[in-house]
Amino acid sequence: MRIVGVELGGTKCICVVSQDGATIAEERRIPTTDPVTTMAAIEDAFDAWRPFDAIGIASFGPVGIDPAVATYGYITATTKPGWANTDVAGRLLDRYGVPVGFHTDVVGAGLAEGEWGAAKGLADHAYITVGTGVGVGLIASHRPVVGMTHPELGHLRPVRMTGDDWPGICSFHGDCVEGLASGPAVKARAGMPANEIAEDSPVWPQVAHPIAQLCHALVMTGIPRRIVFGGGVALGVPWLLPMVRHMLDASIGSYGDRSLLGDLDDYIVPATLLGEAGPRGAILLGQQALAE
Ligand code: ZN
Repeated sequence: MRIVGVELGGTKCICVVSQDGATIAEERRIPTTDPVTTMAAIEDAFDAWRPFDAIGIASFGPVGIDPAVATYGYITATTKPGWANTDVAGRLLDRYGVPVGFHTDVVGAGLAEGEWGAAKGLADHAYITVGTGVGVGLIASHRPVVGMTHPELGHLRPVRMTGDDWPGICSFHGDCVEGLASGPAVKARAGMPANEIAEDSPVWPQVAHPIAQLCHALVMTGIPRRIVFGGGVALGVPWLLPMVRHMLDASIGSYGDRSLLGDLDDYIVPATLLGEAGPRGAILLGQQALAE
C-alpha cells in the first residue's frame, strides 16, 4: 500500500509518500502561497510519486468534511487571503482517481499522536494545539469525531478567571479560548512574545485558566481518555501544562468518577511527534480513506 499525503499549512506544505502506511519514505516542502501555485506544486510532488493507492490531506481550516454537502473537500470560510472556497480534495480526486481522505491539520496531528505518539494505544483522545490559534482534534474509536462539521472548540467561551476582565483578541468573540490563550493573545496581553514572559508573571495563570476550562469541557463530553497538547505556546512554556492540570483539577472538583481520569500528569500530556504529526496524520487519513 503506497500512500501520498500533504499537510497543507498556513505557511508551508509538507508533501510525503509512504510505502507502508507508517513511515515516511520521501518528503517535499513547499511554501504556501496562492492556491493556484500551491496546488500545482503539491501535484508536482504527487506526480513524481505515481503510482499510489490513496491520498491523505490534513489542511488548515475551516474545511468542508460532510460528503453530502457541495463544499466537501474545500477549504471554506478561511480568513487566509485568496484561500476561501478552494477545492482541494475534489481536485486531487479528479487528477489521480484514488481514495482521498480529507480533514483538518489538527485532526491529522491528533490521529498521528494516537497511532504513534503521546496517546499511543488509546482509541479515544483529544489533541489541543495552542500556538498561532487554538484548535481541537477529537478522536473516538481511532476515527475523527464528525457530525455537521469538525469541532471548533478553540472558540469555546470559558468561565473567566476571577478578577480577569481582559477582553481578548478573537475578532469574532473577544474572550473565547483562542482570544485569551493563543500566541498572539498572549503577546497582546503581555506586550511581549510568550517565550520572553517570566514564569512568575501573572499572565500565565490567566492563559492557563481558559485552557483548563477547555479541558473541563472536553472531559465532560465523556470521550477523551487523554488530552495531548501541541503547538508553540503549549510546548514552549514548560510551566503551562502543570498549571492547566492544577486548574482542571480545581474546576472539576469532586464531580463524577474521578478515578476515570487517573493521575492528571498522565491525562494532560505534551505531544511527542512534533513536526512529524501533521504529515504522518495525512498518511493515516489516506489509509483510512483506502480502508473505507
Ligand atoms: Zn473566537
